[in-house]
Amino acid sequence: MNLIFLGAPGSGKGTQAARVKDRYGLPHISTGDILRAEVAQKTDLGREAQAVMESGRLVSDEIVLAMVKRRLDQEDCAAGWILDGFPRTRPQAEGLQGILAELDNDVDLGVLIQVEPEEVVRRLSSRRTCRDCGKIFRGEELAPDGAAVPAEGVCPACGGTYYQRDDDREETIRERLRVYEEQTRPVVDFYSDEDKVVEIDGSQPVDAVSDAVLSILRDRFGDRE
Ligand code: AMP
Repeated sequence: MNLIFLGAPGSGKGTQAARVKDRYGLPHISTGDILRAEVAQKTDLGREAQAVMESGRLVSDEIVLAMVKRRLDQEDCAAGWILDGFPRTRPQAEGLQGILAELDNDVDLGVLIQVEPEEVVRRLSSRRTCRDCGKIFRGEELAPDGAAVPAEGVCPACGGTYYQRDDDREETIRERLRVYEEQTRPVVDFYSDEDKVVEIDGSQPVDAVSDAVLSILRDRFGDRE
C-alpha cells in the first residue's frame, strides 16, 4: 500500500499519516522531518535548506527528489510507504513516477485533507515545537482555556523548552499557503486526473478525521491490524 498525504500546511496530514503508520506498520516518510533533521545536524544540505524553509518557500526539487529516492530504496519501504509533504510540485510528482517506474511500483492513493485557509492560520500560528524532544503541540494542548499561547514555555512532555518555529509565524504561514495554492494544487490535479484522490474533511475533530481515513483504507486495502 503506497500512500501520499496531500493537503495544505496545518491540515493535519502529518498527524493522520502517523496514525496510519501505527495501524498498518508502514514507514511514514515526511520530507519536512527529514529536512529539519538535516538542519539540526548542520549538514551541508541542512545549511542550504534552512533559509528557504524559514521563509516558507520550497527547497529545490532536485534536493528533495534525491532525498526521497534514497529513502524509498531502503528495505523497510519494500511492503509500502506513506509519503507526507511530498510531492509538493508537479516536477516532484513526475520525478516520483520516474523513481517508482524503475522499481516497477506506483502510488496507490492520495489522501487529501481539506481545511479552510483561515483555520490553517489559526492552527499553525498557535502551534509550538519542543526544542529538546521535537514534539509538536497544538495551541489547545498548551492553553486549554483558549488563552493566547506564549511564544516559549515548558514542554509538557520532557520539561524542555517549546518555541514557535519560524515557519509557523503568521506572515510565513500566509506565504506557505500561497506557495501551496500555486505549486502544490497542481499535484492534487495530477493525481485526481488519474482518479487516485480521496478527499477528507479535515475541519472535523482529529479522531473523526482518522476514522474517516482509516475507514477508506479498510475498504480499499483491508484491515491489517
Ligand atoms: P513541512 O513540515 O512538510 O510543512 O515542511 C517544512 C518545510 O520544509 C517546507 O515549508 C519547505 O520549505 C520544506 N519542504 C518540506 N517538504 C518539501 C518538499 N516536498 N519540497 C520542497 N520543500 C519541502
